[in-house]
Amino acid sequence: MFELTTLCSGLSANSGVYSSFLCTTDIYHYNSLNLTDLHNLSLKRAAALSKTGINTISDLLYFFPRRYIDKRGIWPIGNLHMAHEAVTVIGKIISVNVIGSGTKKRLEVVIQDHTASVKAVYFKGWKYHISRFKTGELISLYGTPRQFGRYFSMAHPEAEPLTGSENPAGNDTLIPIYPSNKHFAKAFISNKLLADWIRELLNSFRAEEYLPGSLLQKYSLPDLGTALQNIHFPSSSGKANEALNRFKFEELFLFELCMSRIKHERHQRKRGAVIEPGALTHLFFNKLLPFKLTEGQKQALGEIRKDLRSQTQMNRLLQGDVGAGKTVVALGAILMAIDSGKQAAMMAPTEILAEQHYHTLNKYLSGRNIEYRLLTGGQRTALRRDILTSVESGSCSIVIGTHAIIQDQVQFHNLGLVVIDEQHRFGVKQRNEILLKGDNPHLLVMSATPIPRSLAMTIYSDLDISVIRELPAGRKEIKTAVRTDRDRESVYRFIEHSVKNGEQVYVIFPLIEESEVMDLKDATMGFEKLKRRFPSVSIRLLHGRMTSDEKEEVMKAFVDGRVSVLVSTTVVEVGVDVPNASIMVIEHAERFGLSQLHQLRGRIGRGSRQSYCILMPGEKISHPGRIRLKKLVETTDGFEIAEADLRLRGPGDFLGTKQSGLPEFKYADIIDDRLILEQAKNEAWRLFTSDSDLSSPENQKLAERFHSYFRERAEFFGTG
Ligand code: ADP
Ligand code: MG
Repeated sequence: MFELTTLCSGLSANSGVYSSFLCTTDIYHYNSLNLTDLHNLSLKRAAALSKTGINTISDLLYFFPRRYIDKRGIWPIGNLHMAHEAVTVIGKIISVNVIGSGTKKRLEVVIQDHTASVKAVYFKGWKYHISRFKTGELISLYGTPRQFGRYFSMAHPEAEPLTGSENPAGNDTLIPIYPSNKHFAKAFISNKLLADWIRELLNSFRAEEYLPGSLLQKYSLPDLGTALQNIHFPSSSGKANEALNRFKFEELFLFELCMSRIKHERHQRKRGAVIEPGALTHLFFNKLLPFKLTEGQKQALGEIRKDLRSQTQMNRLLQGDVGAGKTVVALGAILMAIDSGKQAAMMAPTEILAEQHYHTLNKYLSGRNIEYRLLTGGQRTALRRDILTSVESGSCSIVIGTHAIIQDQVQFHNLGLVVIDEQHRFGVKQRNEILLKGDNPHLLVMSATPIPRSLAMTIYSDLDISVIRELPAGRKEIKTAVRTDRDRESVYRFIEHSVKNGEQVYVIFPLIEESEVMDLKDATMGFEKLKRRFPSVSIRLLHGRMTSDEKEEVMKAFVDGRVSVLVSTTVVEVGVDVPNASIMVIEHAERFGLSQLHQLRGRIGRGSRQSYCILMPGEKISHPGRIRLKKLVETTDGFEIAEADLRLRGPGDFLGTKQSGLPEFKYADIIDDRLILEQAKNEAWRLFTSDSDLSSPENQKLAERFHSYFRERAEFFGTG
């Protein structure tokens, strides 16, 4: 390596000499060449490249065009009167002038081809542009032409100075246009220069493949050399796309290899108890359950069952929209554990939710000689001691509870399965703590946050995922509408009418942490107003400043039906099932995120009645706010909404924080390219299960690349 480096850096770049040394090494050995070995690449230019993240030859080869100019799509300037949208023209620069004075100063550049001339006008940033235009040079403009008298002009067109290799008279039909920036401009790195360097590299070397040939074949991906050639200098846009797909696959595949490695190691380490369905499980599904499982529920159960009997510890995420029926699936898993002589624990984020699950158990298991207990923080000492004893002795088979389950005093006899409901409300730490209560118990976590599958695969990479897509049959779709302040009276009349019919209503106010006081004021005022308007209706207020006892009390009154209208600032407890609540009014709806609105709306539509969600935006509503509300009116599909939300906000924000720990992909978009992501994930896993240390000859090059990739990203992946 040392020899190569010194040898090459001593050579002028324009020689085929070193190519004979390098053609047999893989692309990463380009790193032994310096960028400055290239033609016209001064130290100053190298510094400008470095500021753009291009430090090595391979960085430069992986610096892809942001678009291409299709020469067949170039308009003769004389035809601009027929152009109704943005078009590309190419011509020679005739004049470059700064016109006007003061704030009206502008740059006017006239270009001409063999048919006519057109003027480019820049009102802003002309000082930058003026350095790019030189009389006599060839340039391409991309913009919308406007006619002024007999003349055409374009305001702020995208301009790309062209010369030499991308001359329109040349053979290429697609001209690569590279991303540009001020560092490039200062160092006079033109589009042409970038193209020349890259062409020089491609002509001198053959990049060597490291992806297994079988994969390239299976997905019809071009090999590395071809892909590099075609991404920079494609003969058609189809070729460019094929090349881009290869690079997308490549980056996702490397990422998924890391994920697979972590998962694989976990599988090696941890063995779970073998759990299989028995008499109780069969009784439950065949006799006790009053409804038929949906396809999604059946499939999820099938996947769970397979995990539980596989001897490796289950680590599964069950995703399903609110109301999709995750609880019965969890219950199925719990009963399988009991059938196999193991204990099961189910943890929920609030007492109300834990109680709700306890009632579900009551419904199906009471009188069946199975001990199940509810464990929460606020229980009397004697009762608590009794519960702990029976859990420790093993006589209690199922513990349902809150965080209380994690406490030190809680000891299990043989905990075989842990279920965590609404898992996003718990930290990773809590998840691990409860797992320590047993000997590698199986884990099922449930979430109603409908994260698009592709994203979930990257975030919860070490979890397997089951998704319940459909809601049980017979649910009435929630009707959603936007109403303004002007409609307030009719909304009130609607509430009045519904309450008379025995229905329950949520009125939700937003809670934005910074302005909690303000929001509280909003909600309190709204609450007072409602009480004045409906003096005979039972209305209660729930907000974040109340103690948890107070909150529980109000919530319980609502659950029990003693309260008809619940005004709430805090997000109403996730997961709470009040089938009788069929109306939700959301005030200042534009202030909520899309997924949050959907979660809120999921509190209604649980019973047999038609449910209504009324969105009441404030007066000033932004464009994105409007889009959010529109989406919500259009669809009730949680996954569709989550994707829209993701598009509007980007992955980091979507998960509530910029530091979501999501990797940033350079070429792939985890939503648009989900198919490739899925392929990459499957192939990575398959590879790891068949050749876990990547030692087969076919995988040797890949192994090298993978190990350096993994090392470079140790921060992200942890130590595995
Ligand atoms: P979530 O997925 O939001 O936790 P739940 O498990 O609370 O949903 O289920 C919501 C309601 O739907 C419950 O009352 C439950 O009994 C009912 N349910 C679940 N599965 C079915 C089904 N296959 N058919 C009819 N009703 C169902
Ligand atoms: Mg639930």
